[in-house]
Amino acid sequence: MAKWVYLFTEGDATMRNLLGGKGANLAEMTNIGLPVPQGFTITTEACTQYYEDGREINDEIQGQINEYIEKMEEITGKKFGDKENPLLVSVRSGARASMPGMMDTILNLGLNETVVETIAAKSGNPRWAWDCYRRFIQMYSDVVMEVGKKYFEELIDEMKAKKGVSQDVDLTAEDLKELASQFKAEYKEKIGEDFPDDPKKQLMGAIKAVFRSWDNPRANVYRRDNDIPYSWGTAVNVQSMAFGNMGDDCGTGVAFTRDPATGEKKLMGEFLTNAQGEDVVAGVRTPMPIAQMEEKFPEAFEQFKQVCQTLEDHYRDMQDMEFTVENKKLYMLQTRNGKRTAQAALKIACDLVDEGMRTEEEAVAMIDPRNLDTLLHPQFDAAALKAATPMGKALGASPGAACGKIVFTAEDAKAWAERGEKVVLVRLETSPEDIEGMKSAQGILTVRGGMTSHAAVVARGMGTCCVSGCGDIVMDEANKKFTLAGKEFHEGDSISLDGSTGNIYDGIIPTVDATIAGEFGRIMAWADKYRTMGVRTNADTPSDAKKARELGAEGIGLCRTEHMFFEGNRIDAFREMICSDTVEEREAALDKILPYQQGDFEQLFEAMEGNPVTIRFLDPPLHEFVPQTEEDIKKLADAQGKSVETIKAIIESLKEFNPMMGHRGCRLTVTYPEIAVMQTKAVIRAALAVQAKHADWTIVPEIMIPLVGEEKELKYVKKIVVKTADEEIKAAGSDMKYEVGTMIEIPRAALLADEIAKEAEFFCFGTNDLTQMTFGFSRDDAGKFLDAYYDAKIFENDPFAKLDQNGVGKLMDMAVKLGKGQRPELHCGICGEHGGDPSSVEFCHRIGLDYVSCSPFRVPIARLAAAQAAISMKH
Ligand code: PEP
Ligand code: MG
Repeated sequence: MAKWVYLFTEGDATMRNLLGGKGANLAEMTNIGLPVPQGFTITTEACTQYYEDGREINDEIQGQINEYIEKMEEITGKKFGDKENPLLVSVRSGARASMPGMMDTILNLGLNETVVETIAAKSGNPRWAWDCYRRFIQMYSDVVMEVGKKYFEELIDEMKAKKGVSQDVDLTAEDLKELASQFKAEYKEKIGEDFPDDPKKQLMGAIKAVFRSWDNPRANVYRRDNDIPYSWGTAVNVQSMAFGNMGDDCGTGVAFTRDPATGEKKLMGEFLTNAQGEDVVAGVRTPMPIAQMEEKFPEAFEQFKQVCQTLEDHYRDMQDMEFTVENKKLYMLQTRNGKRTAQAALKIACDLVDEGMRTEEEAVAMIDPRNLDTLLHPQFDAAALKAATPMGKALGASPGAACGKIVFTAEDAKAWAERGEKVVLVRLETSPEDIEGMKSAQGILTVRGGMTSHAAVVARGMGTCCVSGCGDIVMDEANKKFTLAGKEFHEGDSISLDGSTGNIYDGIIPTVDATIAGEFGRIMAWADKYRTMGVRTNADTPSDAKKARELGAEGIGLCRTEHMFFEGNRIDAFREMICSDTVEEREAALDKILPYQQGDFEQLFEAMEGNPVTIRFLDPPLHEFVPQTEEDIKKLADAQGKSVETIKAIIESLKEFNPMMGHRGCRLTVTYPEIAVMQTKAVIRAALAVQAKHADWTIVPEIMIPLVGEEKELKYVKKIVVKTADEEIKAAGSDMKYEVGTMIEIPRAALLADEIAKEAEFFCFGTNDLTQMTFGFSRDDAGKFLDAYYDAKIFENDPFAKLDQNGVGKLMDMAVKLGKGQRPELHCGICGEHGGDPSSVEFCHRIGLDYVSCSPFRVPIARLAAAQAAISMKH
């Protein structure tokens, strides 16, 4: 019989896949002797089984849960529903990878009228007992039975109004008792049956709810963003309750062993007296800094500091912990490697190396490459920032600079961002339903909540700037306005946020680009030391190329030459070329384009300082370039001495039913060889000119032919290129080398890569087209149905963003083997969008690619991901 349930004493930190992160760490903390309220973990496999069984917990699993309840009762000396010593538990989710706030939690489970009376009498604190019960009914109704929270909140508000008090804490035991019975009546009205009294029934309901929450919409979005597979499932932790809300010698807190925003080595956190954990995280009451805990609970604080040290030494990483103090005694409820900003991640990794806790390789492996993104994005211009006066200040909860137009709801944030607006989401507080809106916003500003509030934690995870807990704001969410520093702000007004200092500014402050320095530089240098795969960039302009070089690109892997044709009056010459009737006319137009191309290529060679530059010949269907407006058509007709009708007829003739599979790529050269002749001349002349200026560089231009599917096709085009290039080189009296290679972006080319490699000196995988053609999905339209694919669990990711390793990857693997088998010196790279996606980069390393090429801002991400791939394959 499979084992579905483990006591905390039966597990350890290595069992993360089975017990989830929280369960494995509760077991580990138990093993190393820390004060952990005991309990058990139902495995992630049980979650998978629950879904396989049609969202039911089968008898075998139920049987084991019941058995473990008994074991837990023995260990704690408490019993479910007991009149003397009742057992109360928390039920929490815990996946392999932490997903803060995405799944459900139920506290105070095990309560019923009898148990409440017992604990009220035993503790001498009936107010606390009834408060627990009304919280439990509320949470259970909301989480397990999905009765909305708002009905209960309305009842609380009515009760407060009736009693003439403004705070929950001002309600008496009697008030709370009456509320509990009102809540139960509300439950009966909504659900049609009595609120369950039997703790075991309550527990099964709660466990099912946690399993079910694995599939809730916000968890699905979070998983997709964080590359967490649906198949992993969540574990459920059932833990004996420790009470932080039993009175003034109780409390609860959340703390980090290092600052999760900056990485600084100091205890950071928040604490609330007489409260339960959810109160801190929900940001409903603004908590006090952890240091103040020392005054209230000196002994528990001293012990807590020691626990922090023990846990850091044990896990050799920054820890994020939840704890409770019950009657002055400390209980640890959770520890995990803390989520952190990119900046903090770099500092912590470097500090751990300097402290002798981690090796360089381990430090490199600790950084999530996707996080680097935030460091590469603009910060406020220092001078403009100095000149600006903040109109308010709150907590700098997640660093970065954000400016944009104010919106008040997550839906508005999403809708405005979709139409291209930059927005700042301003809320009283955020909740998990706001996730999509938070993702769409440049920054988030909340009125309530601390550094560990939902807004702060989630924003840090996403790398979005966040300023939280600005109590000075007088908010009017209903009318979409707020007042700050005496000024009223409405939807659409501009503000700027500094997520590092917590400053809030009226209007827009200009931003500047980030640079790689300090710890960022150190980590990147280590990454370069351990990676074996090259990293190039996709760049079509000298400025992109320079940026990429600054960010560490070792060459250009893809220059899309057609992108150079749109600037200034170049497009006119290009349109003349397209609308030519004869070879002579076309050549005359190409002669006009040649100097532009040559000049651009020279700048690219200069920017790359002798590193490889791959120039891809004209690729897209020509109709993309034809004039659209009457005015432009007339202009072209005049320039060519043709009638408007003739031009319109040519434009009409260029229309295709399936342009992406039409007259494009190398097919253009087969029909118009003179285009390839011009482009070859431009590349070779540019390379010769730059080589002549820099004797210490060895320039070997790489000419790349797109959309090849057949060896003879490439042979035909290559012949034209080689003839032209050799003539140019000879005429210049040079012996410069150059290479002619091809993109592999049609499945047939991958299947016949050995034949193609007879002609190609290099391969570069164009995984945008290769994905399009392997799936038969249009790369421009797939977005229209991908959401339905995610909902139906057919796909977990966009295959245009994250490489489909099973299908497209199989073609790539095969092509590399066939190609290198034919021509051992063949070099292979990738230049589709996937070249900057960490998991795809890892795959590229595994199949033996020589380099990846990606957009400039993703170069550091690719460098780090390549290093991580090399390190993990080594060990
Ligand atoms: C590709 O298809 O992956 C590629 C890099 O080329 P493009 O995106 O220009 O078609
Ligand atoms: Mg392509």
